[in-house]
Amino acid sequence: KKTVLSGIQPSGSLTLGNYIGALKNFPKLQDDYDCYYCIVDLHAITVPQEPKLLRKNTLEVLALYLACGIDPDKSTIFIQSHVHEHAELAWVLNTITYMGQLNRMTQYKDKSKKYNESINAGLFTYPVLMAADILLYQADLVPVGEDQRQHLELARDIAVRFNNKYSETFNVPEPFIGDLGSKIMSLQDPTVKMSKSDQDENAFISLLDDKDTIRRKIKRAVTDSENNIAYNDSQLGLKNLINIYSCLTDKKVDEIVGMYQNRGYGKFKEDLAEIVIESLLPIQKKYNEYMSDKTYLEDIYSLGASKAERKASKTLKKVYKKIGFVAKK
Ligand code: ATP
Ligand code: MG
Repeated sequence: KKTVLSGIQPSGSLTLGNYIGALKNFPKLQDDYDCYYCIVDLHAITVPQEPKLLRKNTLEVLALYLACGIDPDKSTIFIQSHVHEHAELAWVLNTITYMGQLNRMTQYKDKSKKYNESINAGLFTYPVLMAADILLYQADLVPVGEDQRQHLELARDIAVRFNNKYSETFNVPEPFIGDLGSKIMSLQDPTVKMSKSDQDENAFISLLDDKDTIRRKIKRAVTDSENNIAYNDSQLGLKNLINIYSCLTDKKVDEIVGMYQNRGYGKFKEDLAEIVIESLLPIQKKYNEYMSDKTYLEDIYSLGASKAERKASKTLKKVYKKIGFVAKK
């Protein structure tokens, strides 16, 4: 079986973008691949986090993983900081990554603008930690949103560089990026991606938003004044809403545009809100069940960590040996 790895940061409530772009695909892969899904808390601390909230968000992501259909009997679900090999391999990979490469990463540029008074070195080397996450498990496939494509290319580059320098060690991973749903945009500014760390709550739909909140956010979503349902780059807000509609219903874009011809945005937005509500309702119900059983969640992440560690430690040992570290007796 080939291996899949992906992760989500516990940096806030997961959004519809995280769901459509990444999470929705996770359970689909678990029958055919050996899947590792982690909650990447080491990544989350590259921007300021409130400790209490970080702890709460971490369990929330775990419960949402389960609620979205990731089956702990099929997939390995774990918390990144529980497997110390991630940080250790990241250190080694830091030493073969060029500053110039990291300087070109657009996520770093965007986030350092946003958090300009507190940029830390961790934010800069974020992509190296991500490469470590992937390479530790010898992943073949990494399901992520479009925004992570550049980081994945860097991970491939690091893998190849290490292999060339020290002999074949890492599998070179491929991205798994969908088309329509791979970049869901902010509801308030359709030129930037929807992000769970957005300061403006109206910019995203959280997977845990209640019905009225979802209706309100979609109603307020920025569109344009043409009031004509069409799918093109001069109506970016609308395009984004049509993409969401299409991803959640499996209806083709043309079909949706046809359905709402000459009907204005009001009815379209109303219907979309109901579609989002219907899609999230079963997830929210299961989420609440999982959140009410903390012992079960503990069991899942404990078991996951030991399964993950088994594979991760094998890779790290190999790496340490190749670079010339003396093995502990
Ligand atoms: P943050 O703002 O804290 O970075 P985020 O919403 O970008 O939060 P991440 O934890 O960084 O979430 O990313 C988790 C996964 O969700 C990644 O695979 C990422 O590519 C995907 N993703 C994030 N935002 C979107 C989006 N707007 N559309 C599609 N996929 C997305
Ligand atoms: Mg992100």
